[in-house]
Amino acid sequence: MKLPFFGNHPGRVFKSNGIFLQVFIEDHGGGSDASWPARYKNLRIFHIMPAQQENNMNRRNFLGSSSAVLLTSAIASHSQELQSAIKGRQDKSATNPGPENQLVRDANPNTFTPPPTDHGEVQAFWSSFSTAHRRIQEGGWTRQVTIEDFPISKEIAGVNMRLTAGGVRELHWHNAAEWAIMLRGAARITALDNDGRGFVKDLGENDLWFFPTGIPHSIQGLPPDGCEFLLVFDDGHFSEANTTQISDWTRHTPPDVLAKNWGVAEESLASIYAGPAEGRFIFQAEPPPALSEDIAALNSAAGASKTDFSFLMSRMPATAKTRYGEVRVVDSANFAVSTTMAAAHVIVRPGGLRELHWHQNADEWQYYIQGKGRMTVFFNGGKARTADFNGGDVGYVPRTLGHYVENTGDTDLIFLEMFKSPRFSDLSLSEWVTNTPPELIRQHLGIPRTVLERIAPHKPLITPV
Ligand code: MN
Ligand code: MN
Repeated sequence: MKLPFFGNHPGRVFKSNGIFLQVFIEDHGGGSDASWPARYKNLRIFHIMPAQQENNMNRRNFLGSSSAVLLTSAIASHSQELQSAIKGRQDKSATNPGPENQLVRDANPNTFTPPPTDHGEVQAFWSSFSTAHRRIQEGGWTRQVTIEDFPISKEIAGVNMRLTAGGVRELHWHNAAEWAIMLRGAARITALDNDGRGFVKDLGENDLWFFPTGIPHSIQGLPPDGCEFLLVFDDGHFSEANTTQISDWTRHTPPDVLAKNWGVAEESLASIYAGPAEGRFIFQAEPPPALSEDIAALNSAAGASKTDFSFLMSRMPATAKTRYGEVRVVDSANFAVSTTMAAAHVIVRPGGLRELHWHQNADEWQYYIQGKGRMTVFFNGGKARTADFNGGDVGYVPRTLGHYVENTGDTDLIFLEMFKSPRFSDLSLSEWVTNTPPELIRQHLGIPRTVLERIAPHKPLITPV
């Protein structure tokens, strides 16, 4: 049994029939208490007592007492509807004789048995690269999550790509801006800026790049094992299958025109017309020469670009840090070229919570890099839904909807919050209730002043602080 709306903190105070009550929560996770039958393993028990007795009572002794009656008291303090939702999870109502896709079910515990506070039908806000088609070619592969099969994701689409050492994502541009993070390995990227000057750079794990709409670029995996990276586009309709590629465009230009364009002999361009009809996309090539050699070649042409299309997030100190995690915010304030995308790289330690918050300026597209977490998105009008996330999954939160992300695993949870916006911006529930007249908050939520005063008067981003 799990009643996540109580959170993991024992000693939560609430009011019932005019009396303040204290609820203690005890997990029977490992069955260490031999007096408990095996079938009660993983049971979570709620103990209710008058709040003022908290300090007078030996908590250990109290937890040793019978809890059945007390559990009923806990439910009695909730609305009829919530009582029914909780009871349904305790009796035969929630049993499921099957059939069932066990693997999918087990990966989504908060969908199979939602928190009783979840309610109503909402559009799916979770997806995964692990169920996306992989286009595999010599040199690497790509897969994408776009609005086509993830309808809520109107503002952003994502691509996950792997390139071998020497493997090339061919020279191309597209009708959307491209933000990227290197997940594994290293790559050499090239681009052409608005002044027609070339850019070339080698990037490693946790480094970023940004190519504005229409800026041509390429990516090539470096030895020893190439790379894997995530691309984020500022348009939900973006598709990797619809980009302007150099081998595609030239192959579909009459040879005499191309020869006239460059002032070269038509016969010297024969290899272009031997290529595939839709361009090369990804292909295996020799690893590139030393970076200094590529840079020297640029300098002897129009000169190297003065625009930095890259950002070394791997060397960036945390923007915010607490006991339970850290956040790095990268947007146009520190990564000038990234004018249409803002990012937060979030690490939440086991037991930590990316606090309840919302974003005023844009939808949030999430990519889960590692770990295990859950997110509840509050859709207003009584609607809320909780979903589970693992590495490789994608989440989406429409603009202004309240949400949190909780680490439910035993390793660090690492994910990206991406926004189609020049700046990262959020507001938190904590800063809302602590920067509003306290008496007004008390009148709304019934929270005593003494409890309100314990809430951090700022925005920690990751809690507990
Ligand atoms: Mn691209
Ligand atoms: Mn958020």
